[in-house]
Amino acid sequence: MQLKKKKFERKVSLTKETRDGILSFCKMNHPNEGILILRGKAKHGDVFIDGLVIPPFSETGADFAGFPNNPLPLDPSYVGIVHSHPVGSAEPSLTDLNNFFGLVSMIVKSPYEDDDIFAWDSDGKEIPFAIV
Ligand SMILES: [Zn+2]
Repeated sequence: MQLKKKKFERKVSLTKETRDGILSFCKMNHPNEGILILRGKAKHGDVFIDGLVIPPFSETGADFAGFPNNPLPLDPSYVGIVHSHPVGSAEPSLTDLNNFFGLVSMIVKSPYEDDDIFAWDSDGKEIPFAIV
C-alpha cells in the first residue's frame, strides 16, 4: 500500500554565475562562516535564484552566521539565504532552522566545490536544485 501524500513540492534553480559566486564567497570567508541573501523570483513554489546580496547586518564567526535580532529588509526578491559550514556536514543546525528566512536555505560545506551545495526547506528537508 502506498500513501499518497499531497505535498507541496518546491523546486530550486540557480544560475551558474550565482553558484560560482556563492562558492568563491565561502572560500573567501573560510575558516569563518559566510552568509549571503539569495535573490531571485518565486512562482508556484518554484524558486529561481540569479543574484546574491551581502546582508546589511551579518555577523559571522567560526560556528555561527546569522542576523541576530535584526530583521532583513522585506524585499520580495529575497528568496532565501545561503551560508557556509566550514566544518561538518551541510545539514541545517537547529539554529539554522530557527533562523530560516524566505523559501529556501542553502548550505555549503567545506571545501566549497560544486557538489558541496545543498538546499533545504524550513522543515530541514532537502530540496533538489538545478544549475541553469
Ligand atoms: Zn548553519
